[in-house]
Amino acid sequence: MRGSWRVGRIAGIEIGIHYTWLLALIIFTWLVGQGFTVTYPGWQSYLYWIAGFLATFTLFIAVLIHELAHSLVARARGLAVSSITLFILGGVSNLTEEPEKPGVEFTDGHRGTARQSRPGNRILAIMVRNYKNVGPSGI
Ligand SMILES: [Zn+2]
Repeated sequence: MRGSWRVGRIAGIEIGIHYTWLLALIIFTWLVGQGFTVTYPGWQSYLYWIAGFLATFTLFIAVLIHELAHSLVARARGLAVSSITLFILGGVSNLTEEPEKPGVEFTDGHRGTARQSRPGNRILAIMVRNYKNVGPSGI
């Protein structure tokens, strides 16, 4: 994906991060931190940032594991997977070849952008809900 850079390799699959992922990391860290101010009042303000960051980072690790699962299933079905890229709405597994049988593509999972964005949509919905509960008061 253009605008991304490699950060590592897992099971022979390149892991990349798109620049929009950094925006998501910052925004989600702030929003989750806001949520923690309501759930756990009285902490030092820097702890809300740390907790928000850890929760957000853990969420993206889950997205990465999800994409790795797709990629390993695709590989087990004979498809070559070149990379996984995390971006603001989730992750994308990149195949180097298209499956010949539609069934393989179906069982390979959601490879289109709209389907890939489902985890991101859930995250955004949770963040927006938390933001509405907290308001723009800042931490
Ligand atoms: Zn998926």
